Amino acid sequence: MRLIESASSYDDIYGRFRWFVPEYYNIATDVCDRHAAGADGTALIADGPGGVQRFSFGQIQRLANRMAHVFLAAGAQRGDRVMILLGQDPLAAVAHVACWKAGLVSLPTSVLFGVDAVAYRLTDSGAIIALTDLENLPKLADARTQAGLPRTIFLVDGAVPGATSIEAAMARASEHFVTVTTRADEPAFLNYTSGTTGWPKGALHAHRTMLGHMPGAEFGFDFFPQPGDCMWSPADWSWLAGLMDVLMPAWFHGVPVVASRQKKFDPEEAFALMGRHGVRTALLTPTALKLMRQVPNGVARSGTKLRCVLSGGESVGAELLDWASRELRTQVNEAYGQTECNLVLGNCASVMPVKPGSLGRAVPGHVAAIVDDDGTPLPAGAVGNIALRRPDPVMLLEYWRKPDATRDKFAGDWLITGDLGHMDEDGYVWFQGRADDVITSSGYRIGPAEIEDAMTRHPAVVIAAAIGVPDPVRTETIKAFVVLKADTRASPGLADEIRAFVGERLARHECPRDIEFVDELPMTTNGKVIRRALREREAARRT
Ligand code: ATP
Ligand code: MG
Repeated sequence: MRLIESASSYDDIYGRFRWFVPEYYNIATDVCDRHAAGADGTALIADGPGGVQRFSFGQIQRLANRMAHVFLAAGAQRGDRVMILLGQDPLAAVAHVACWKAGLVSLPTSVLFGVDAVAYRLTDSGAIIALTDLENLPKLADARTQAGLPRTIFLVDGAVPGATSIEAAMARASEHFVTVTTRADEPAFLNYTSGTTGWPKGALHAHRTMLGHMPGAEFGFDFFPQPGDCMWSPADWSWLAGLMDVLMPAWFHGVPVVASRQKKFDPEEAFALMGRHGVRTALLTPTALKLMRQVPNGVARSGTKLRCVLSGGESVGAELLDWASRELRTQVNEAYGQTECNLVLGNCASVMPVKPGSLGRAVPGHVAAIVDDDGTPLPAGAVGNIALRRPDPVMLLEYWRKPDATRDKFAGDWLITGDLGHMDEDGYVWFQGRADDVITSSGYRIGPAEIEDAMTRHPAVVIAAAIGVPDPVRTETIKAFVVLKADTRASPGLADEIRAFVGERLARHECPRDIEFVDELPMTTNGKVIRRALREREAARRT
């Protein structure tokens, strides 16, 4: 059963929606046990160097049951954190379910992190168990020296001194396990923010956040599930977008998910994979779409037949949205959310007119507004904080062991996202930028996204990022960093040409004064531009 039901219009769906969050709720029951007991269809299609492996819900359940026993035998107690330092490995998905079944808190962690980032998360979370593979073991071992944790390391692909084979341990454990009863607001996982603007913070989420995510997933994927659905995203499961927008919503509805073991996003392979497995719905970030745009004829050559694409995490922009819906031959819905409060604004093109460049409207079940810093809602058109009203089941319980940060996240009943924007008369939200990224120039407040979108319309530009650099007269002037297509040579003439091109599309005060060509932009592991790093680099150059 979907949480949202087809209806004639957005207003109708929004108006009719009611949450039902039971007092006791465990994610594992909904994403695994329920389907294992039923038709037991395919849960996971793992496509890796070793070939393709398929898992039914029953197999996932038996694996999770065994793993739950192993974690408990290793001394884990209710609420303890278990770090999962793996890519899209079948046992990573199993480990989340195992943790929830046993009342433990899973801690998804990206394999792209270095030693310090892993050590930071170990120390901050106090994880006592970690699950990883041989490739990532050296990093985890170094991090353990810094953090003094975890006590126990399990490996998915072997055993070495100091790290135990999880498969060997699971083979000795029973395949029966009764999922513990958890309150809906009991912690289920701890997810760190991407660290785009500073130190990542651990957002602690309750079991109920699964229900909180479902309207957004069902809406954004155009009344998902539909017959024949099969889902994929290159977004890692260590990131909320991969775990809670794709993997777990698919399992909630018994839909199979493709897992890929690509180390680095390869746009050719992305098309090939979607074609090979008949992927119908995908979450593709703007960065992924920008890279896929470089592949000629990707859809036709791969036989990709998408039904719906969800994008977000950064501004998609009208230009990219237009390319994607044309070339991917499907509905592309932009959505908005954050680790703390995910999938709360979005588009569903089949029930509402899309205004390209906007974040869409509040997803059914969520109440959004633009508020000032005191939490007072502002009228249509006024720029302020994008905010969501509590209580809302999707919202974080707290920032892990940071009561001050948790308190500061709210103004009255409103969760302050830290992003600025305005809402128009029709309830569409327009993103201006992260509060820290907004550029102040000649008395104007300018969001980098609009400038970047205009720049990427130029045929030579792959990705662009705009920042404000201090200026005695204008407060800030705009500087853009541009990555060019592989076959394009950087030159002052090209910079002038791009500036003129942007000048035709934007107001004068929005045109970058400086353009610097770079080979790459600083990005978080999930492909978000870190404008803060560009600002710091600029500041260092100027001193
Ligand atoms: P940190 O909070 O550590 O700086 P982060 O904010 O990048 O990192 P996430 O929670 O992964 O970590 O990202 C959420 C943020 O991503 C949002 O607050 C917003 O700034 C941005 N974002 C998400 N969706 C969109 C979108 N559709 N358009 C523009 N920005 C978006
Ligand atoms: Mg954030």
